[in-house]
Amino acid sequence: MHSNSVNKPLLEVKDLCVAYGKVEALTQANLTVGEGQIVTVIGPNGAGKTTLLSAIMGVLGSEGRVCFDGTLESVPEVEILVGRGLGLVPEKRELFSSMSVEDNLKLGGFMRYRKGDRYQDSSLMEIYSLFPRLLERRKQAAATLSGGERQMLAVGRALMAKPKLLMLDEPSLGLAPLITREIFRIITDLRRQGVSILLVEQNARAALRVADYAYVLETGQIAMQGPAAELADDPRVVEAYLGAASKHQEMLAS
Ligand code: ATP
Repeated sequence: MHSNSVNKPLLEVKDLCVAYGKVEALTQANLTVGEGQIVTVIGPNGAGKTTLLSAIMGVLGSEGRVCFDGTLESVPEVEILVGRGLGLVPEKRELFSSMSVEDNLKLGGFMRYRKGDRYQDSSLMEIYSLFPRLLERRKQAAATLSGGERQMLAVGRALMAKPKLLMLDEPSLGLAPLITREIFRIITDLRRQGVSILLVEQNARAALRVADYAYVLETGQIAMQGPAAELADDPRVVEAYLGAASKHQEMLAS
């Protein structure tokens, strides 16, 4: 089996297991994200993709090893990991709905601010240049945003913490085709700016197109892996994830 051999690993996950009571949702998952890479995890509903990201982030208890940016996290803890440069955009976005767009963004940079970083205004301007729509709506309450705008805000808020690795959980979920395309464009832009990405997606075609390396997660186990372009040509992947049933998704995303 392949493995993602990289010069400088930023994230290394070894034998990660998560159980909900007696039900094992993740079994011995191994995964690597190299510096500057876009890595995707694709797989069907309920395969354990969200569970994987939550365990890496320390939101969920797990067994195994998570090594981020050269430090082994024996028990991953959200606050420590955020401080060290790991960001997560959760599937449910989890915005502060009664607060304005701008206040949501500022909260994303709060940890940096508390550490004495006072460059909040320039970070805000960077986010607004990436997402001009958010600038137009900066005074509006997060609850009143459209689905696509909410996703932009969730990504923008995570970027305010200046992450080295950004984990995105189904960024295209529920979004209109044009917005989906926009989100994938931004993912490529971010990599150009030096942010590494771990992307969880059900839209396999779009994810494989943008990623360098890919893992297929099925019922809690890594079933296949390889360079994204190779996996996109693998007959098993084509049949299960890129076949006629997903043609529609493909059309939506391109
Ligand atoms: P989706 O693409 O539908 O979001 P997923 O690949 O992200 O799916 P998970 O949400 O990680 O999958 O769920 C993996 C499995 O664990 C599923 O069978 C799910 O029902 C189960 N599960 C998730 N959260 C819990 C929980 N809090 N308690 C019990 N079981 C859970």
